[in-house]
Amino acid sequence: MTTPNPLAMTTPNPPAMTTPNPPAMTTPNLSVVIPVYNEEASLPTLFARLYPALDALGLSYEVIFVNDGSRDRSASLLREQWERRPDATRVVLFNANYGQHPAIVAGFEHCRGERVVTMDADLQNPPEEIGKLLAAMDAGHDYVGGVRRDREDSWFRRHASHAMNRLRERITHIHMTDQGCMLRAYSREIVAAIAASREISTFIPALAYTFASNPTEVAVAHAGRVAGKSHYPLYKLIRLNFDLITGFSLVPLQLFSMFGMLVSAVALATYVIVIVYRLAYVHPEDPVAVFWDRDILAFFLVGMLLFGLGLIGEYVGRIYHQVRARPRYMIRAVLERPAKEPAEH
Ligand code: UDP
Ligand code: MG
Repeated sequence: MTTPNPLAMTTPNPPAMTTPNPPAMTTPNLSVVIPVYNEEASLPTLFARLYPALDALGLSYEVIFVNDGSRDRSASLLREQWERRPDATRVVLFNANYGQHPAIVAGFEHCRGERVVTMDADLQNPPEEIGKLLAAMDAGHDYVGGVRRDREDSWFRRHASHAMNRLRERITHIHMTDQGCMLRAYSREIVAAIAASREISTFIPALAYTFASNPTEVAVAHAGRVAGKSHYPLYKLIRLNFDLITGFSLVPLQLFSMFGMLVSAVALATYVIVIVYRLAYVHPEDPVAVFWDRDILAFFLVGMLLFGLGLIGEYVGRIYHQVRARPRYMIRAVLERPAKEPAEH
């Protein structure tokens, strides 16, 4: 599954400013991949904390920002940062908003580090915690997931996410304590495998888990957003969780067939009981007639049917996206130091 040069597999649209096989930077020890969508308020603080935290690790690194079609000043802030630190910064600019996970895939396709860390741009994942993930990798793990201690999110988000973690644990083969935490470290092999996966609707922490041979987890700190607000309103959260469940499990479809079989069996048994009862004795104060409300039962079953149909639609829709095989995103430009240019700083 490994691809020595992930750049070779980028989207068919040639990025305007990319060097096809950039040799300027030697392979850094660490790549940090950060998706950015309308984060102009967080970026200055992120730059101010991230680079010193990485310098403190005492290893060579690059930071890859993927601007996911921001409509605010994020792209120009990223360009300024690239001009300040071209030795350690690369910026991939999408032409539109494709979502957090496609942005991370693009970062994976462009990064060169031996080890790769993902984190959010809003500083909910403190960059000072990266060392903990790397220590676990040094201990021989190829995939390290962060588990947020004292999560700083709304009551609803914490409880909904707890329920989704439990559901995923039961119906997929993926075992993680905190699927929503994006502070994670991956080996080069896993990153290459993810970049090579042609999935359109995907969920990176789960996909990485399927490729990992020795995964582990470490507790990391969590903070409230430094600025701005979450890009995941309820609707987008539900979509994301459908991506996770449908992407990694067929159990929901199987549950529907089971449910269908159960309903038919119960209906058949009920029918036999009712007919026998009617044949034996028909009373007006008949208890079966009291409990038997066909309309309510029919509403319930129609509801279940619609849900089942919708669920099948979720899978079919994803198959439809997948078979059209469109590029997962289009890159407008990549800001990176041209090959062989001497260091400016
Ligand atoms: N993000 C992105 N594209 C999107 C939505 C979010 O690249 O369409 C980025 C966002 O800039 C941030 C990360 O993904 O770096 C997590 O987003 P957010 O903080 O809004 O999610 P939450 O922390 O509420 O789960
Ligand atoms: Mg956030």
